Amino acid sequence: MPDQKHLEHYADILIRVGLNVQPGQPVAISAPLEAAEFVRILSARAYLVGARHVEIDWDDPQCDRIGAMMMPDDALEEVPAWPILRIDEQYEKNTAFLTIHAADPELMKDVPPERLAKRAKAMGIAFERVQRYFMEERISWLVCSIPTAAWAQTVFPGIGADEAVAKLWEAIFDVMRMNEPDPTLAWQQHIARLDERARNLNHRHFRALHYRGPGTDLRVLLPARHLWVAAQSQNDKGDGFTANLPTEEVFTLPQQDGVDGTLTSTMPLAYNGQLIEGISLRFERGKIVDYTSSTGYETLKGLIETDEGSHSLGEIALVPHDSPISNRRHLFYNTLFDENASCHVAIGKAYPFCLDGGKAMSEEEQIAAGANHSITHVDFMIGSADLEIDGELADGTVVPVFRKGNWALES
Ligand code: ZN
Ligand code: ZN
Repeated sequence: MPDQKHLEHYADILIRVGLNVQPGQPVAISAPLEAAEFVRILSARAYLVGARHVEIDWDDPQCDRIGAMMMPDDALEEVPAWPILRIDEQYEKNTAFLTIHAADPELMKDVPPERLAKRAKAMGIAFERVQRYFMEERISWLVCSIPTAAWAQTVFPGIGADEAVAKLWEAIFDVMRMNEPDPTLAWQQHIARLDERARNLNHRHFRALHYRGPGTDLRVLLPARHLWVAAQSQNDKGDGFTANLPTEEVFTLPQQDGVDGTLTSTMPLAYNGQLIEGISLRFERGKIVDYTSSTGYETLKGLIETDEGSHSLGEIALVPHDSPISNRRHLFYNTLFDENASCHVAIGKAYPFCLDGGKAMSEEEQIAAGANHSITHVDFMIGSADLEIDGELADGTVVPVFRKGNWALES
């Protein structure tokens, strides 16, 4: 484990650059028990910048696994109301939400996928209304990570837990730019560069992108009012925040019925405590009409069959293959990291702020403008050194956007 000083510095980046906690603002931290030591540091650093209350929502993944295994069948779809009402109350108080995502990628390996799918769908439906506070950027939120033993040993197999955790700390600090002389400044400059990329893409206003790579030949129409977005977001109070750290992506939404062709994943997806590898999807007019995977097929099926909208894409994101995370040349088995090493797409709901004026639109208006709607949103990775992307301008001119996995568009 890094020393106290480095941990405090990391916590400061999460609290200040990520959440951007304001004086008097409550903070809610959701974390696994294993993160207790770091959560205490986070809590103190949040009070130091003026947090009013720091509430902790502890989670024990092992108890989640026991529940998923042993809960009576007819209880899988029961979700209590109080956690949802609590989020309502936190929302009313302009709480900033920090989630530590550090799951064992194969936590639910032995749980029947149909039980997990049933539970995930029930949770998705129950939390859909409050999930909007996050999807619509009404409040500030951040997903970040620290190592846990089971996860670290998946990333670095064949060594002891302590050694694996130490190596994963090193890896996280590396991609979190903690080795830069001034990490905060490095993040500010990096976020400014990502914003510049987004502005450039908005200026071009492509009407479609065409992806080509091994197992991928996909045409994606972009809605007329699409907006490319990067790291910097703004909540209802006008305070800035960065919802993911690390972040390397520039993203927008596809036209819900405008995706055609085939798409193949390039990295394993850890979803719901199970691994899905070698995902291959075929789209017709925006709908997944055929799907396979080399492992985790039942889990993939559970995801795609969640609802109508989980048969379509809600996000496309551009990430160069030459980035701090992919340059480490190992998987993280955690989407927060892997999606920032690779171009990716998400099955499910589109972010309303990816439409010009989208936050002020009703759901019907968002759908009419081309946004996909679903109770789920799950990213998976499609980038590699072989990925090529062309952009199609309104007059039909084709412009190279990505070549050999990296930006070909000057910024
Ligand atoms: Zn993304
Ligand atoms: Zn996403």
